[in-house]
Amino acid sequence: MRVAIVGGGFSGTMMAVELVRLGRSEIVLIERRMRPAQGMAYSTDEAAHLLNVRADNMSAFADAPDHFARWAVAKGVGRPDGFVRRRDYRRYLEEQLALAERSGKLQLVRDTAIGLAADVDGIVIALASGGRIGADQAVMAGGNYPGHLPAALGLPEDKLVHDPWSADGVAAVKRLAAETEGDLLLLGTGLTMVDTTLTLADAGFAGRILAVSRRGLVPHAYQEQGSAPLAWQPPARLGELMREIRRRSAEAGWRPVVEGLRPHSIALWRGFTDEEKRRFLRHARPWWDIHRHRIAPEVGARIARLRDEGRLEVVAGRIAAAEDGRVTIARRGGGAIEREVAAAINCTGPAGEIARVEDSLIRQLLASGLARPDALGLGLDVDAASRVAGPAEGLYALGPLTRGAFWEIVAVPDIRRQVRDVARLVSGY
Ligand SMILES: Cc1cc2nc3c(=O)[nH]c(=O)nc-3n(C[C@H](O)[C@H](O)[C@H](O)COP(=O)(O)OP(=O)(O)OC[C@H]3O[C@@H](n4cnc5c(N)ncnc54)[C@H](O)[C@@H]3O)c2cc1C
Repeated sequence: MRVAIVGGGFSGTMMAVELVRLGRSEIVLIERRMRPAQGMAYSTDEAAHLLNVRADNMSAFADAPDHFARWAVAKGVGRPDGFVRRRDYRRYLEEQLALAERSGKLQLVRDTAIGLAADVDGIVIALASGGRIGADQAVMAGGNYPGHLPAALGLPEDKLVHDPWSADGVAAVKRLAAETEGDLLLLGTGLTMVDTTLTLADAGFAGRILAVSRRGLVPHAYQEQGSAPLAWQPPARLGELMREIRRRSAEAGWRPVVEGLRPHSIALWRGFTDEEKRRFLRHARPWWDIHRHRIAPEVGARIARLRDEGRLEVVAGRIAAAEDGRVTIARRGGGAIEREVAAAINCTGPAGEIARVEDSLIRQLLASGLARPDALGLGLDVDAASRVAGPAEGLYALGPLTRGAFWEIVAVPDIRRQVRDVARLVSGY
């Protein structure tokens, strides 16, 4: 029995590691980047890019919750209650993968999977190099796909960065930091804006950064001392839940309330009707994101300083017009501002709609009917056990690709449980 894993970011890498731990042999991990065990999140070399989860919650193993914190202390790269550099987390993942590789049961393939076929004899994965990999089971772990620029800006291509997480994108951000005389426009004000701003500042960018999003909401920072989660049983219906969050936040502060939701969030999401999910995405999501997915205190302090110094300006609104670098922003709440920008960087974060993802494998899976979008179009439709809905036997999906089914499945503490459960299922436990 062979299992093929497509994508060697956190999800795919840890799937391979867990399968080795469970005694599976014949595991193939296909990753298109130069090296696996990084993906979009941990490929960064920037010292300023920190994890946005405390070390004591970043273990790669669901059954060993302090594994990473102990590693970080042993390597001298951080405290259990601190926020370790993401490049150090990559080293941690690389170590876990190297240990698994030594078993001789795991084969790493550096290639891009571009198609998948399934019949009674099993699954065949087509590779960009022309090769094929046959397997009995396959796990889709393609993770986060780059998003799209939300507006045309009338800037030449060399003044636009579409994907600041690709190797070319990182190089382009640094080039812009070095050569741009005027102001820079960042589209998006979330976690990608935060990272990109730090990269620009560290690369010596001396101009002003204008960051724009519909609501202009910037992620909150963790406090130095983490607050204990409030133990509470949230109501199942969205309207009541939002009212209860507001009521309890007014009493106890929002941090313990939001932390206390964590153990319930997947069950809550799964219990919502599709209409409630849509309402959540339309109205509550931006607030949820900045309260739930926070940044390290030191990162928050730097962003606040840059704003105080006028080097970073955050605007709530939308691009109403743009020509030759002159942009008009219609402010949320009324009025407009005009700015001259020399270049722009897409900081809208990973793609939010599976049907718009520009990836041959995803397109082929959807076009062939082997997989379909979930009801909200966020990712692939999977069942409660992460099996891809459709005709292919033995096809699973992990991580952000399964957001439609589980919602809170983008960060390590949630994905590691899914990985463990799917690894057991795939191994017949
Ligand atoms: C910038 C950023 C920072 C983050 N920081 C944190 C954090 O601090 N803590 C936390 O818990 N979570 C963080 N996250 C959330 C992150 O989603 C998860 O932690 C986790 O890394 C997701 O891993 P993944 O493997 O599912 O996806 P990805 O990291 O996107 O990896 C998917 C991999 O699949 C490969 N791939 C895709 N398609 C193919 C194909 N057809 N053929 C071959 N290879 C393919 C890609 O090259 C990529 O390497 C962050 C996310 C981002 C984007």
